[in-house]
Amino acid sequence: MLGLMQNKSLLISSLIEHAEKQYRDSEIVSRTIEGPIHRYTYADCAKRSRQLAKALTKLGVQQGDRVGTMAFNGYRHVELYFGVSGMGAVCHTVNPRLSPEHVIYILNHAEDKFFFFDLPFVPLLEAVEDKLTSVKGFVVMTDKAHMPQTKLKNVMCYEDIVNAEDDDYQWPDMDENTASALCYTSGTTGNPKGVLYSHRSTVLHALAGLTVDGIGYSNKDAILPVVPMFHVNAWGIPYSSAMCGAKMVMPGALMDGKSIYELMEMEQVTLSAGVPTVWMMLLAYVKETGKKFSSMRRTVIGGSAAPRSMIETFRNDYNVDVLHAWGMTETSPLGTACHLKKKHEGISEEDIVTLSLKQGRAVYGVEMKIVGMNGEELPWDGKACGNLLVRGPWIASGYFKGEGKGAVDADGWFDTGDVSTIDEDGYMQITDRDKDVIKSGGEWISSIDVENETVGVPGIAEAAVIAVPHPKWDERPLVIAVKQKGANVTKQDVIDHLSKTLAKWQLPDDVVFVDALPHGATGKLLKNVLRAEYKDYKLP
Ligand code: AMP
Repeated sequence: MLGLMQNKSLLISSLIEHAEKQYRDSEIVSRTIEGPIHRYTYADCAKRSRQLAKALTKLGVQQGDRVGTMAFNGYRHVELYFGVSGMGAVCHTVNPRLSPEHVIYILNHAEDKFFFFDLPFVPLLEAVEDKLTSVKGFVVMTDKAHMPQTKLKNVMCYEDIVNAEDDDYQWPDMDENTASALCYTSGTTGNPKGVLYSHRSTVLHALAGLTVDGIGYSNKDAILPVVPMFHVNAWGIPYSSAMCGAKMVMPGALMDGKSIYELMEMEQVTLSAGVPTVWMMLLAYVKETGKKFSSMRRTVIGGSAAPRSMIETFRNDYNVDVLHAWGMTETSPLGTACHLKKKHEGISEEDIVTLSLKQGRAVYGVEMKIVGMNGEELPWDGKACGNLLVRGPWIASGYFKGEGKGAVDADGWFDTGDVSTIDEDGYMQITDRDKDVIKSGGEWISSIDVENETVGVPGIAEAAVIAVPHPKWDERPLVIAVKQKGANVTKQDVIDHLSKTLAKWQLPDDVVFVDALPHGATGKLLKNVLRAEYKDYKLP
């Protein structure tokens, strides 16, 4: 017998409609590319998203068409999120930090029909335009006064096409499984692969973000997503924020510590989210200048492991709580979040930090398990370490156009490529990426563990740990580190510090100091580049 409940589709348009009715005066504040701070409400955003949908219709965009964007976090990008998906087309966000070859590959593979972009990307698009096979027109996300001189063909001005329409537009009803957005993974090898989100997956994921044991976004928050809208939909923040009417504060192109700090203070931000590299810059700035946070309560750290020293500094020096979370492009991204349980009330500060180093428990909707070399399921004892598999309604069931076959098994388990443990309480801890683990004499050394300990050494700003070949042990760890400005920390200082927490066999064989480490398009360390560079390195 079927239940007698209404079968209403879960659609992205319902998020902005809800915000318009329930939270019409909640603000979206953006640092614009043109310079000034722009400020408007969800009601304004909803109206302009409808105008945009009308403009797209006039341009000939149809349901299922891909519309590309290359833009920072700002209000026009939010309008594209709702306008493009809302009308039934697919909002394809492109990471501007990718190489021009990858940008060409992605736009052609996705078959983007129109391409919307921020002013700084004019030269990049001019350079690749000749190789694009599907784009019919380009839209610069600015107003008439700031339109650039460009040799791009068929260029339009965003404000012109939006302002030419009224907002008399009805969002279409559709199957909730309709594709809504497309985001390519920034694979370190091979071509990027497209992850195609649906309305249903996006709405369910946004709801999960609102749950207290998910992220816990609320109407009382002013949220500053440092995580860009061109990387896994800014972790779903624009959707979750519309759902609860939280004030959104968009940083635009300026991600340095000073700019982020000033925006946080000016707009009384309570919650932020980003990768450790961004927090490193912010913490360096507040430390240097002696500044404090007057409103920040919480920060979500994900994308790479949050080091102990970072969690401690946020908590102890700035009274900002850290929520460590894990996910990936293929998981929308929210997979796990590290909230303490009731049973942890009253544990020591040190134990809180130790627990926060874990990536956390699966949020409802995500199932996870770890498996060994032969696919056998491993126990949840906090020690057994295996490949992490996940499944659920916001986990990819495959890649766009059938690329990357075999990522999902017959039972729907997606192989994340991460290696982890899970403890008795369900807390998952990433020990490494499959490819990064250091295999030394039959034992596995977690490069993440050694990195996290190394950045805790006074005078070290950033560190990468890679495996280098060893005649006896197969592989041994090498630390490649960047010193803080003016610090004169030595190799021996690093080894002495690590000896306090790591076993002897886990200690690095050598420490090399460099001026900078290579990062990929989403801010992650490019360990494959380092491995290639140091493949013939002779350990002492
Ligand atoms: P991406 O698809 O670019 O977002 O990258 C996803 C990958 O980032 C995951 O598979 C992990 O390897 C890594 N990652 C994400 N969050 C964390 C975290 N909290 N700790 C360690 N690694 C993480």
